[in-house]
Amino acid sequence: MQLIEVAIIGGGSTGLMTAYYLAKEGIKNIHVFEEKYLGFGSTGRCAGGIRASFASDVHIKLMKESISKWLSLKEEIIGLDFVQDGYLWLLTTEELVELHKKLSAYQNSLGVPTRMLDRDEIRNLVPIEMNDVIAALYDPMAGKASPLKFLGSVRRRLRELGVAIHEYTPVTEVRVSGGRACSIVLDGGREIRVGGYVVVAAGVWSKDLLEKLGVKIPLKKDPHHLLVTEKYTHFIKPLVIHKETGSYIVQHETGSLLVGAEFPVPEGDETLRYGYLKKAVTIMSRYFPQILGINLLRVWIGYYEVTPDHHPIVGGVPHIENLVTATGFSGHGYMMAPVIGEELKNIILEGKPRIPETKELRLERFEEGKLLKESAIFG
Ligand SMILES: Cc1cc2nc3c(=O)[nH]c(=O)nc-3n(C[C@H](O)[C@H](O)[C@H](O)COP(=O)(O)OP(=O)(O)OC[C@H]3O[C@@H](n4cnc5c(N)ncnc54)[C@H](O)[C@@H]3O)c2cc1C
Repeated sequence: MQLIEVAIIGGGSTGLMTAYYLAKEGIKNIHVFEEKYLGFGSTGRCAGGIRASFASDVHIKLMKESISKWLSLKEEIIGLDFVQDGYLWLLTTEELVELHKKLSAYQNSLGVPTRMLDRDEIRNLVPIEMNDVIAALYDPMAGKASPLKFLGSVRRRLRELGVAIHEYTPVTEVRVSGGRACSIVLDGGREIRVGGYVVVAAGVWSKDLLEKLGVKIPLKKDPHHLLVTEKYTHFIKPLVIHKETGSYIVQHETGSLLVGAEFPVPEGDETLRYGYLKKAVTIMSRYFPQILGINLLRVWIGYYEVTPDHHPIVGGVPHIENLVTATGFSGHGYMMAPVIGEELKNIILEGKPRIPETKELRLERFEEGKLLKESAIFG
């Protein structure tokens, strides 16, 4: 029977970054198993937004670290295009303005340099029809990285580092013996022995794999639409969010625009809704009428893997000493992938994460009722 050192289940941003940081440390015999193709899950369907401007200490501290890793990755991996063009939250009510002033002060206290912009300052930043916008919160530390370019460039780098990537290779089971994950079983029944660690980075599908091992994991499949347009002249640098409705627009280095909108769909449902298209285009074209002249290429649904406290689950699982998981990113797993990949590497090689906040993401918090909270400024 084949023996491998590390089996990573899932070829999304989490699995690939974990493979990268392990391989960079010189670990050999790392294998990534992906049920379909790299990026098939949420990673290939996400908007590519990256920010540290959150409302919880844990998210902010991890994301500050992740952003510094995105900057290094840009140097380390040819073709990865992280650009620090910022995030801009358009605010259309006085209540939202007051809330975001407090939020900015809180973020500044943790070293994230967000600031409020008035209407003139907003106009200087983006070619916008102001309509009902009163003010905006701007985060200059934030940025974007095209998920497709990320997937292509990381795949190439992993190959150079000797990581084996197996696409169209679902893992159906992890076998445990004496409290250790000793092997994985592939579709078709082939069993592969694992000498070191099993990493479950299978996005929303991590729940299925872990539940087979008796590990309960509170994870919901929350469907979200996104649309992509043809390439267009670069005209909008920051990722812009219309806070009142949660609609957003981002233009990547490729020239394509991605437009998202909150449009509730029942859990696990992948049926595309016309209502989403109408909402996304109607809202964004009020501020950026230019988009009405751009051709739409595709619309899709992907899942946010949502936990009860909207923070991820990272680390070991009870009673299996050499199995780690990272999932439950609740809409932020792409931006967190570098820091989480490195923390999984630290857990595997050093027995613990390096950043204190990572410990707060352990799975046991749900059973213990120690859920993480957003900052008090939200009441
Ligand atoms: C519309 C939308 C917009 C988003 N925008 C952003 C954003 O701007 N910024 C951000 O940070 N995040 C965003 N997200 C969230 C982000 O996409 C996810 O949190 C992140 O991609 C999760 O990465 P992952 O590697 O953990 O999981 P995934 O990317 O889902 O990868 C898991 C992989 O595991 C594979 N798999 C599953 N089961 C098995 C098995 N048994 N054997 C082998 N392989 C298996 C799947 O095929 C999948 O490819 C967005 C999500 C959506 C849907």
